[in-house]
Amino acid sequence: MTARIIDGNALSAKLRGELAAKAAELTAQGTQPCLAVILVGGDPASAVYVRNKVAGCEKAGIKSLKFEYPQDAAPADVLARIAELNADPSVHGILVQLPLPKHFDEKAVLEAISVEKDVDGFHAENVGRLSQGQEAFVPCTPNGVMEMLKSIEAPLRGAEAVVIGRSNIVGKPMAMLLTAAGATVTVCHSGTRDLNFHTRRADILVAAIGKPKFVTGDMIRPGAIVIDVGINRLSSGPDAGKLCGDVDFESAKDVAGAITPVPGGVGPMTITMLLANTVESATRAARKA
Ligand code: NDP
Repeated sequence: MTARIIDGNALSAKLRGELAAKAAELTAQGTQPCLAVILVGGDPASAVYVRNKVAGCEKAGIKSLKFEYPQDAAPADVLARIAELNADPSVHGILVQLPLPKHFDEKAVLEAISVEKDVDGFHAENVGRLSQGQEAFVPCTPNGVMEMLKSIEAPLRGAEAVVIGRSNIVGKPMAMLLTAAGATVTVCHSGTRDLNFHTRRADILVAAIGKPKFVTGDMIRPGAIVIDVGINRLSSGPDAGKLCGDVDFESAKDVAGAITPVPGGVGPMTITMLLANTVESATRAARKA
């Protein structure tokens, strides 16, 4: 069996077209959606993510503001900027690119962002709302995964879903969303005793581990839907320098029923959902105006 490829680039292009139309409509009514991005330090991967987010905004007709700070920036300066952006009615989304330098209290920075502008969905209040099924900004990566599952009409109600990884930005919200959609969810992590036992019974397997090619074909139930969230850069071997996921695509594609590639899978969907949250925030602001 060769798995169906769930193309994140194609789905993103379709959704971004719809978002651009919504952004144009809002702009014509006097509310151009606007995302403010804060980048602290010179981490090259973070710089690439920020560049892609800003470019995604531009293409969709969303205004973007970029604020860059050096590695040794004072946390008070960044917090002051966030307060300013919170108070600015023309800004609808605020994103602080993670990770922050070690001398920052990451939690305090995320909590300083107004809940109404927390388009990354990392504020504790948004997380609480999500867990209770209330209206919330959903973290972009797991939200993008849900869109991918929807695009292939994956049956979620009653499905056995296994999520490897329990981070606040991927694993935990992913488990919440799958649970809300009616799946029976198991969350695995580094302390899981027999990982293969769990992965081999999954109808839907989500890998968010951060280890290149960790999930191999023999860990997958034949016909399962495999979602690879991982983004790793290979440091050695013939493919050194190339990106790969947490799933060993070559062996997995012969067993899975459907699979997301890396690159071109979950990655583009994450930015698409950030744009969607920004447009949603602007829509709410326009309704209130
Ligand atoms: P974290 O490092 O925060 O979390 C990794 C998780 O994997 C942890 O819960 C950890 O368990 C678990 N884990 C580690 N080793 C094992 C193991 N041997 N067996 C089972 N579980 C294990 O990573 P993130 O959630 O932030 O990211 C995960 C991956 O997704 C990374 O490759 C990252 O680059 C990528 N990513 C991709 C995005 C995209 O847009 N496509 C967006 C965000 C992330 P424990 O909690 O016990 O330590």
